[in-house]
Amino acid sequence: MTSPDSPAPVLRVRDLVKEYGDGDAKVRALRGVSLDVERGDYVAIMGASGSGKSTLMNILGCLDVPTSGTYLIDGADVGSLDEHQLAILRNRRVGFVFQSFNLIPRMSALANVELPLVYGGVGQAERRARALAALEQVGLSDRVHHEPNQLSGGQQQRVAVARALVTAPALLLADEPTGNLDTTSTKDVLQILDRLSESGRTIVLITHENDVAAHAKRVIRLVDGEIVEDRRQAPVEGVPPRMAAL
Ligand code: ADP
Ligand code: MG
Repeated sequence: MTSPDSPAPVLRVRDLVKEYGDGDAKVRALRGVSLDVERGDYVAIMGASGSGKSTLMNILGCLDVPTSGTYLIDGADVGSLDEHQLAILRNRRVGFVFQSFNLIPRMSALANVELPLVYGGVGQAERRARALAALEQVGLSDRVHHEPNQLSGGQQQRVAVARALVTAPALLLADEPTGNLDTTSTKDVLQILDRLSESGRTIVLITHENDVAAHAKRVIRLVDGEIVEDRRQAPVEGVPPRMAAL
C-alpha cells in the first residue's frame, strides 16, 4: 500500500494479460505481468523477440488495452478512463520514442517537436519556446529547420526524444530506441537518456542488448509474456552504473 505521504508510483501494473486472436490462433502475449515503477527510476525491459516487450510497452503507453488486469499511471486507473480522458493522459503524461523514429516527413524538426503541444492546445509562442528548449536539450539547436530526410538516423532519433520530452511527461517510454542506429548514434542517444535519468525523469526502455540495458538502474526480463527476473543495478536516486564508471 502507498502511504498518504508517499506519492503514487508512476506506474502500477497488476496481472496484465494480453491475448491476440482466438481459438487455435490465440496468442497469449502477456501472461499476468505485475510491476511498479517509482518516480525517477530507469528501467530496461529485456527479452527475446516475441517475448511480449512491445505489447507491454503499447499498453503502458495507452496505445493498446489489455485483455485483463489493471494499470495505473500517476495514480489514475487507465481502465476507467473514457476515450477523451485517455487521449489527454497519453498526450500529457507519456512520451514515446520508437525504433523507427516516426517523425512526420516534410515537416521541420521544430514542427515535429511542436506537434504534441499543438494537440495539447498550447499557444504558438509557448509552443515554439518549449520545442526549441527540447531540441537544445538533445543538442540539435543548429538543426531545427531541417526536415527528417535531411538528418542522420541518430539526429532523427534525437528529434524524436525532444518530441517525447516537450510535454514534460511523467514517463518516457522507448521501444528499442537504438535498434536502427549505428554505434556512434547509439552512444549519443543513450547519453541523452542517461542525462534525463540523472535529472530525475522516469524512463522505461525496451531493448534486447545488454550494452543498452547496462545504462538502466533496473533490468526486467520477459520470457514468453512473463517476468522471470527483476534486478536492480543502481538505486533510484543514484546514477546508473555506466555513468558512475565515467
Ligand atoms: P517483442 O516486442 O518482445 O518482440 P511482441 O510484444 O511484439 O514481442 O509480441 C509478443 C507476441 O504476441 C508474439 O508472439 C507476437 O507474434 C504476438 N503479437 C504481437 N502483436 C500481435 C498482433 N497485433 N496480432 C497477433 N499477434 C501479435
Ligand atoms: Mg518489439
